[in-house]
Amino acid sequence: MRTVGVDLGGTNTYTLVVDEDGQTLGSSKMKTPLSGDHLGVIDVMETGVLAALDDAGVERDEVSAVGIGTPGVVIDGTVGGASNVPGWSERFSLGDMLRDRLQLPVRVANDVTAAAVGEHREGAGAGMDDVLVVFVGTGVGAGLVLNGQPYEGASGGAGEFGHMVVVLDGATCPCGRRGCVEAYAGRRAMEQAAERARMQGTATVLFDIMEKKGKHRPTSGVFKQALDDGDELTADLLHEGIRALAAGIASAVNLLDVEAVVVGGGLADKLGDWFQIRLEAAMRPHLFLQPPEVKLLPAQLADRSGALGAALLARDVAS
Ligand SMILES: [Zn+2]
Repeated sequence: MRTVGVDLGGTNTYTLVVDEDGQTLGSSKMKTPLSGDHLGVIDVMETGVLAALDDAGVERDEVSAVGIGTPGVVIDGTVGGASNVPGWSERFSLGDMLRDRLQLPVRVANDVTAAAVGEHREGAGAGMDDVLVVFVGTGVGAGLVLNGQPYEGASGGAGEFGHMVVVLDGATCPCGRRGCVEAYAGRRAMEQAAERARMQGTATVLFDIMEKKGKHRPTSGVFKQALDDGDELTADLLHEGIRALAAGIASAVNLLDVEAVVVGGGLADKLGDWFQIRLEAAMRPHLFLQPPEVKLLPAQLADRSGALGAALLARDVAS
């Protein structure tokens, strides 16, 4: 059984064709439109699927289903509420539209949920029933797998881990609320805090490194370099982010008693052991069950997890 997985991102749309063993047969990467309406984005998704099939040397009639991981809140194949993809704010029937175009069964899931399924079935969480998968990058997101199945919530809104409140009346989050995990641990929030500190005269090499690397924003690689260069502001921001993240993860573990928490995403992947070791140490004191049973594991699939997870979810429709 061959399935296709599409990971719709704000920048790129990445598509994989996988076989029954989860091996990748072919792929494609397209630019996601930055403007226009939802039809333009669907055109790109359709083209991406056909290009990946072509790359894999697989005919459409050999494919049993297509899985889509998309930003936004997914309810019964419809999506809405995502502002980083053109036309994705208003709810519409993404699943039906792609099914008509591709003439194949389609399963739609939230992109972070799809990535969590990838890590659960083929990555760090393989073989476990209950796993929380947290991604730390520009923002902070998570996917939950409970009893072996992705948990999407009563209204499709589960997994908004980044907006768990860890500080009452705390820092303003990109979501507009206060004290969320993401307000401390998301790279965008750290960037803004670094910018404010620089304006107030705090010495930092973060922005010099950014310019040297030819970047417009401090990427995860820029944060890593600044940390390696001994930049104090960067270290302080990362420690503060880790403390918030640790409180959020421990609270989720206290609620759900998952077997493992898998941590990935651009910033966590880039900082590697440095990040994981400090996160684990900061999390432990908050855990209710002692000695703690939960495992904290680094993600294994990097940016393949979304498309792979979507392809694996497509199997559920096909079977
Ligand atoms: Zn928030």
